[in-house]
Amino acid sequence: MDKTLGIFGGGQLGRMMAQAALPLNIQCIFFEASTSCPSAVLGPVFSPEKQQLNTFIENADVFTLEFENTPLEQVDILTQSKNLYPPRQALAIAQNRLLEKDLFKTLQIPVAPFAQVNSFEDLKHATDTLGFPIVLKTATGGYDGKGQYVLRSIEDLDQAWAELGKAQPLIAESFVHFSREVSIIAVRGQNGDVKTWPLAENHHHQGILSHSIVPAPNSSELQPVAEQYISTLLQHLNYVGVLTLELFVTPNGLYANEMAPRVHNSGHWSIEGAVCSQFENHIRAVTGLPLGSTEMIKPTVMVNIIGQHPHTQDVLALNGAHLHLYNKTERAGRKLGHITLMPTDAHELPVLCQALAKILPEPLSLTAHMTW
Ligand code: AMP
Repeated sequence: MDKTLGIFGGGQLGRMMAQAALPLNIQCIFFEASTSCPSAVLGPVFSPEKQQLNTFIENADVFTLEFENTPLEQVDILTQSKNLYPPRQALAIAQNRLLEKDLFKTLQIPVAPFAQVNSFEDLKHATDTLGFPIVLKTATGGYDGKGQYVLRSIEDLDQAWAELGKAQPLIAESFVHFSREVSIIAVRGQNGDVKTWPLAENHHHQGILSHSIVPAPNSSELQPVAEQYISTLLQHLNYVGVLTLELFVTPNGLYANEMAPRVHNSGHWSIEGAVCSQFENHIRAVTGLPLGSTEMIKPTVMVNIIGQHPHTQDVLALNGAHLHLYNKTERAGRKLGHITLMPTDAHELPVLCQALAKILPEPLSLTAHMTW
């Protein structure tokens, strides 16, 4: 092997990074509590519980992460002797919604009006200035819509505070009346090259990404705007690696919701759907290699497998379907794998989606309104 890459986390994102690293003769190792994690079949796992951080650091040349809540204290130990990409600053900002929204504002990336909330008084004040509805969120630690409360009127104040008041710091945001949610994913190399994939339109079920449609329908005017926002972030942060920006589509244009300093579920389509996937380009960027083309090969729909596995035979019998399983046990709400659908043309898509909806154990509302 030419190089060893250390990855904080060992879930499916680490697994797919390591799969992309293998043909480049790059070995991955992981820092992860569970030794039976999805990445474990691809490289050694070092455990925080067994105090193996130093051994993990000694055993790799360069480092990255698949988990944005990687503790900054661990990163600080690492960066005394080795390089981490993306940079610590990007991670610190992405871990705190208040810092993140401040940065978006500074860089003139539109965001919903927001306010910091440190007390019940602050919350009352926020509802006065922002109006209803507002979304109250924990500034740190929330994911998949957890740690959030939507306040629709003054009557919701007490309940919202009872649920989240102890989880400070908090942020109150105006509720965005969006028509859809999209994400832009880009990669920046060590030489400053930037490449961007087409926008994905993202659909959620019970707060979890259910499927992504790429390119997002009717997005030709949104694409350059989203590219400009993410390029500004990449330059400002002197970023290296893959960055994701989640956006709301509104009648007044795009509003940024949050960024993820890592490869993203809405980019899984790129394994088959793009010339170079988000995983391969992330590996290339963090190891100092030239970036590959992010051009789309074919319109694609990526569907998550959540909670229960479908029968492999049924999935693979669908024309143009690819199956990715993460070697996880079934549990309600857990991402177990994904399916990439690559229809021959726009007419075949609804047919494939209907067939897929029938074989997935979890309900799926794949109302494919594609206009490719
Ligand atoms: P987040 O954890 O910030 O990604 O939020 C999870 C989901 O909650 C988003 O995907 C949106 O569907 C919804 N959401 C978050 N913030 C807002 C907002 N300010 N207005 C409306 N919906 C929101």
